[in-house]
Amino acid sequence: MTESLADAGPAVALVKPAVRGQPAYTLVARPSRRKLNQNESPWDVPEALKREIVERAMALPWNRYPEFVPAELLRRLAAAHMWHPDGILVGNGSNELIQAVLATTLAPGSTVVSGSPTFSLYRLLTNVFGGRYVPVALGRDFRYDMDALIQAATRERARVVVLNSPNNPTGSALPPDGVERILESTDALVLCDEAYQDFGGPTAVPLLPSSPRVVLRTFSKAFGLAGLRFGYALAHPVLAREIAKGKLPYNVNAITLAAAATLMEHAEIRTERIRALVATRDRTVDRLRTISGITVYPTAANFVLLRCLRTPAREIFRRLLEDYGILVRDLSAASELQECLRISIGTEEDMDAVVAALEQLAGSER
Ligand code: PMP
Repeated sequence: MTESLADAGPAVALVKPAVRGQPAYTLVARPSRRKLNQNESPWDVPEALKREIVERAMALPWNRYPEFVPAELLRRLAAAHMWHPDGILVGNGSNELIQAVLATTLAPGSTVVSGSPTFSLYRLLTNVFGGRYVPVALGRDFRYDMDALIQAATRERARVVVLNSPNNPTGSALPPDGVERILESTDALVLCDEAYQDFGGPTAVPLLPSSPRVVLRTFSKAFGLAGLRFGYALAHPVLAREIAKGKLPYNVNAITLAAAATLMEHAEIRTERIRALVATRDRTVDRLRTISGITVYPTAANFVLLRCLRTPAREIFRRLLEDYGILVRDLSAASELQECLRISIGTEEDMDAVVAALEQLAGSER
């Protein structure tokens, strides 16, 4: 197959050096019995709701573009957040809205400041748009160091400050006054990525009226809709109108819009799932803390980060998968995350299996 392909060399050389220098965002798919590597919901959308979504989608004309502005859905989202419908943008996952925000704000050389370690897409997209990415190390136990962030944002004249709370992959939440402090001390656009806020920590939504920032939310986690891709941004309507210029028209397909509208009509599912997941997380963290060979970091998210103290993380990762059928995320290759594994919170049964396996693999002296 590859033999018939022309050499891509000259064309590849046209790709911007800052892009070529970036590692791609990829994930090797590995089959497993317990999939705890992507911070997904352990629970699928209930079958009755899937049927409702499919019926709703069946009633739509598929030869027509979806609504340019999904007015009813925006009204519902706005009501849920007590915000203006024209200050909400929908996205094909919230990832797409990170892209739209950076596409519309960054000029060549503009600086983006964010905590570190954090979600790798911020760095990747900053480089794609010709910006300069300035990571600011999180503090002890990966807690947010607000002073360091504020200093960096001021010193570097940040155009955008990205605050991911709870932070992926550490689980750290911002302190209650964290966003206010950043807003008071910098003129940067503050992008609050609240993909995991359903599970804990403060939200910046109530601060929306007072100064310019963007808050991102997703249906991928608590609602369990990662496969259909739906996220949204909340911003001042004037800012939202500008950011909309950086996203493609009709970016969210009609089936996903139908799914999001249906789930909004059954919002109690989300509340119940958050309650159950948080209870399982807190029990799991307590139990993991009794295992002597690991450090468990505080988490407000639907995952937990741990550091392996005796057995190498790579070895624990491999044995969890091969011997126990448990797939987690091995982050140990990153310099700030040496010997670290990230484990999504699954069902009670999943987490019983994780605790039992880690007692065997990490707990005992070897
Ligand atoms: N932000 C963070 C911090 C994430 O971890 C993720 C999911 N990996 C996203 C945004 C994107 O979520 P989605 O595109 O599924 O809404």
